Amino acid sequence: MNLYFNKIKRTKGNITLASRSLAPPAYSYHSIGDFDVGKKGWGYKNFTVSFARTEEFWRLQRLSYISMRYTINNKDGVRFEPWHVKII
Ligand SMILES: [Zn+2]
Repeated sequence: MNLYFNKIKRTKGNITLASRSLAPPAYSYHSIGDFDVGKKGWGYKNFTVSFARTEEFWRLQRLSYISMRYTINNKDGVRFEPWHVKII
């Protein structure tokens, strides 16, 4: 809740904009099996679109049991998150 309120404050009260990068409390798919992945040694850069240009990203794309939760222009209106995967 605190993270979400701080995000709303940083977006000057724009809840729609805040929700594009941080799920409201109780609405995160992380609680039902989604997880974030990254390239070892990349740190925060893993949480940028640059991750979509890594070999690690493309190796994940070839796995049949996971897929990306938030693709480009996803129907949820969430930003593109190549690091966020879901179990199929
Ligand atoms: Zn995530």
